[in-house]
Amino acid sequence: MTVVVMGAGVVGSTTAYMLTRAGLDVTVIDRQDRPGMETSFANGGLMNPSDSGPWNSPGTVKNLGNMLFDDYSPLKIRPSAIPSMIGWGLRFLANSTPRMHKANMIANIRLAQLSLETLRAIRAEEGLTYDQTVRGTMRMFPPDGRMSEFVQMCREMEEWGVVFDTLDKGQILEKEPCVAPVIDRYIGAVLFPDDESGDAHKFTNEIARVAQASGATFLMGTEVIDIVRESATKISHIHTTKGEIQANAFVLSLGSYSPKFSSRLGIHLPIIPVKGHSITVPLNGWQGGPTRPILDDGLHAMITPMGDRLRMGGRAEFAGYNTAVDIKEGLRVLNNGFKMLPELKNHMNADSGLNWSGLRAMTPGGPPVIGPTRYSNLFLNTGHGPLGWTMACGSARITTDYITQGHVTTEAVAPEYYAL
Ligand SMILES: Cc1cc2nc3c(=O)[nH]c(=O)nc-3n(C[C@H](O)[C@H](O)[C@H](O)COP(=O)(O)OP(=O)(O)OC[C@H]3O[C@@H](n4cnc5c(N)ncnc54)[C@H](O)[C@@H]3O)c2cc1C
Repeated sequence: MTVVVMGAGVVGSTTAYMLTRAGLDVTVIDRQDRPGMETSFANGGLMNPSDSGPWNSPGTVKNLGNMLFDDYSPLKIRPSAIPSMIGWGLRFLANSTPRMHKANMIANIRLAQLSLETLRAIRAEEGLTYDQTVRGTMRMFPPDGRMSEFVQMCREMEEWGVVFDTLDKGQILEKEPCVAPVIDRYIGAVLFPDDESGDAHKFTNEIARVAQASGATFLMGTEVIDIVRESATKISHIHTTKGEIQANAFVLSLGSYSPKFSSRLGIHLPIIPVKGHSITVPLNGWQGGPTRPILDDGLHAMITPMGDRLRMGGRAEFAGYNTAVDIKEGLRVLNNGFKMLPELKNHMNADSGLNWSGLRAMTPGGPPVIGPTRYSNLFLNTGHGPLGWTMACGSARITTDYITQGHVTTEAVAPEYYAL
């Protein structure tokens, strides 16, 4: 059986690996020269089921004013993006009820946990390395009252297997002495020992490499122009810049660009792009940074160690398909990094740092869209929002099940949650 996977981001590449291992003849199509060059390039690097709480928590409606008018809001809406997000925005708000928020959170956790378990198995079998850390993540809280609310949510997540510990200042310093100069910013932290991190771009290239070694073909520098139907229920081929490509089955994993192609087939994916920035700095051999990802809940900022580099990230913006790197936003991310780790200024090499931006493919509820469509041979694996790296291996497993078995074989997730 032949399968074409559209998109060689972390989601498409992992899907290609899994399909190839299931014995299928897989071709991956991507417009970039290498896998993982768009949103999977320089994301936060967190592999964290603990972050499964969707962004539209109860109370989102009250914060709409901030999102529109406050330049420092963690979730910012650019006026130019408003016309294209009205329908999606209403669904986003509809998903912010306590009931929907909890249901979406559980769907995220279950998929993220399946993913982490699958990733660990693949890593052990294939010997993958991607600057990973397996020491958990630590979220630190300023004295603004948010910590107790967050711990409450952790208790709900605990029922679904997310392990956590609360830490006082002394315990924070035992875990991460590097925050000593700013410890008085915090009242405590939550440690998630099972979370991991790594370089999603390196991982994507590693998984693409082992997929190719098992027989997959990656047609890079090839743009998908159209998905062509044979009938109302079947796709015949895809039209690309390098000609027509036929297959028995097709997987749509084009991240934020998936809806552009599906809508022409009458499949209206509830996905819009949400921009984010990261800064990556080389450390010139300095070893005094964090040993695991640290997050500042008040600043909405994070620092992830990645081998001999540190990556910093921050807030999210609804700004349409604009991927331009914003120098001001990059500086904001860097300054927040300095607030968490002042010593960094003395050790990093800013000149060779990377200021990057990418688009998260967001659904209104949070969970991605995975599964069959009205076309018997077209499958979706897209819309992973802020958790695409965390969910890639689980999503690939589910997609492979649909294609090879016709249904999902694991009970770890409730597949209807990810259905269109
Ligand atoms: C700032 C930021 C921080 C993040 N941090 C984290 C994090 O810490 N943890 C986490 O789990 N997730 C994080 N994410 C989210 C995560 O990066 C994404 O969910 C994930 O990379 C999505 O992978 P993907 O394969 O679906 O999309 P992409 O990586 O965007 O892949 C889509 C592919 O499709 C290709 N493509 C698009 N259109 C065409 C076309 N017409 N023809 C051919 N090819 C095409 C692109 O070249 C691309 O390679 C973050 C995102 C951002 C922006």
